[in-house]
Amino acid sequence: MRVLIIEDNQDIAASICDYLEGLGYTIDAAGDGVTGLHLAITKDYDVVILDLGLPGIDGIDLCRRLRQDAQRSVPVIMLTARGLLENKLEGFKSGADDYLAKPFSLKELAARVKVLSERISRIPNSRLLVGDLSLDVGAHEVYRAGKHLDLNPTLFRLLMFLMQNPHRVIKREELEYVVWRDDPPDSDALRTHLSNLRQVINKPFDRPLLHTVRGFGYKLTDKNAKD
Ligand code: CA
Repeated sequence: MRVLIIEDNQDIAASICDYLEGLGYTIDAAGDGVTGLHLAITKDYDVVILDLGLPGIDGIDLCRRLRQDAQRSVPVIMLTARGLLENKLEGFKSGADDYLAKPFSLKELAARVKVLSERISRIPNSRLLVGDLSLDVGAHEVYRAGKHLDLNPTLFRLLMFLMQNPHRVIKREELEYVVWRDDPPDSDALRTHLSNLRQVINKPFDRPLLHTVRGFGYKLTDKNAKD
């Protein structure tokens, strides 16, 4: 397994490096955002461990560029200071897959790295299909009726989950967990995201695929369903 550590604190980077190498992982390390982004784009890693506060490009910006500009879907764990909920939300919005607050135990980090690499490797470059909608997990691309659709990382993540669970009603809580894990915002943020997703995958086309099931949740299907 190949892991990239992007962390400007040399002590933290070195201790993560030692620990993961001890588990037999191959490690590359970068001490600033520019070098880290370059490595993440040009080499193949199973997981990227990304510090939030970095010189050059910060972790959030780096993750966003990795996803949106470079279209790379490598799993990212974001490291940040304890209890900064805002950072966590920003981290997920920018396309990070997991989040760990400093100080953390190396054992915990290694466990997260393992889970994340396994979760992603079970769906290597697979293509999800629902009706005329297709999502390429590896390439991070979505098409409907042959037309390329632009989705931000949050919408991509929501759509991927819906497409992995087609034709069934998905509860709001399930979708909130996909985006925010155990800390959903109080506001009606999910509804806004789903509304944006509809604009992209439903509106330009004849038949809606994403349906609201009032009082229950949402359903992605190409079979006849009440909107
Ligand atoms: Ca830092």
